[in-house]
Amino acid sequence: MKNLAIYLHIPFCKKKCKYCDFNSYAGKQELVDDYMRALVGEILSYAKAANDYLVTSVYFGGGTPSFIEAKNIADVMTVLRENYCFSISPEVTVEANPGTISAEKLQRYREAGINRLSFGVQAVQDEILKEIGRIHRFADVEKGYFEARKAGFENISFDLMFGLPKQTLKDVEESLEVFIALGPEHISAYSLKVEEHTVFGRLQKEKKLILPSEEEEREMYYLVKKRLKSAGYRQYEISNFAKEGRESQHNLAYWKRTDYFGFGAGAASCFENCRCSNEESLEGYIEKEEKKVYEEKLTKEVIHSETIILGLRLMEGVQKELFFTEKEKAAVKKLMNYGLLQEDNERISLTERGLDLANQVFVEFI
Ligand code: SF4
Repeated sequence: MKNLAIYLHIPFCKKKCKYCDFNSYAGKQELVDDYMRALVGEILSYAKAANDYLVTSVYFGGGTPSFIEAKNIADVMTVLRENYCFSISPEVTVEANPGTISAEKLQRYREAGINRLSFGVQAVQDEILKEIGRIHRFADVEKGYFEARKAGFENISFDLMFGLPKQTLKDVEESLEVFIALGPEHISAYSLKVEEHTVFGRLQKEKKLILPSEEEEREMYYLVKKRLKSAGYRQYEISNFAKEGRESQHNLAYWKRTDYFGFGAGAASCFENCRCSNEESLEGYIEKEEKKVYEEKLTKEVIHSETIILGLRLMEGVQKELFFTEKEKAAVKKLMNYGLLQEDNERISLTERGLDLANQVFVEFI
């Protein structure tokens, strides 16, 4: 049987963060029940196609999955378990916003088979959290984290953001120290990207958004890498760090081009080399019988190029024999001369400098 990853999009949030351009909505809680019904319908409609597959990971992302009732999540898990084949120990993650969980909710998650939590912590300074429009304060993180441990969660991930307005290198250092002291198994560290249709996008247009300089932002990234390494977190992807054996199986499935289904508004799937995505709007997703709005059969060339680009995101890189066209061989040679790629006997991977300029590397293999 082949492996399958399943992503479930829960697009509800209490409040929209100032930097967020994800497909998520605040103030639409009255649609939760209808949405979950539509989601279950979509899950059921694909069950037959997945007959020969074993589900190795499930990921509830959003939005804020922890904002809705735990029963909604548990019911989806029941439907999945009853209609799909699962591997012996699948990774089942819920993205949790520290301001939206309780001991009771966590207990319910455990009973539903959720075994991993991903906390959107972002920073430990309340002024910064407020500045970026998060609803939680750092005290909520600590409370939620200890409650999660008490409920039996042994696999927890924290998100860290850098390059934020009013954030200094010292702030990032402080966040890292607190993260390390708490000791989640996994840390994802992302640099702020200002997107057009967000509050930050508007402020930037009005020249009212003051961000750290590019050099400062890079310093922050170097600090993250160095400090996490010394604390025993192995960088396994451009933005991801994990303690031994705690890499995110779900994200690895994407980077290794394992088949995946994405269910929910705006979710994307790549199954048997067919890529498709769903209607984005909540109302449209609920009402339309056909959720799919885009479908593309991937050509051999696209699959090959994706395998290289996604694989290069991983520190382990990709097998040398994958670079077999003359164009690819020439690109590898050039990028090695620039110090962006390196090789060992079997594989080719990004160098430290290549990590910084990854997009420039990827462009060579499109
Ligand atoms: S909680 Fe996440 S999905 Fe919701 S608005 Fe904030 S960043 Fe976006």
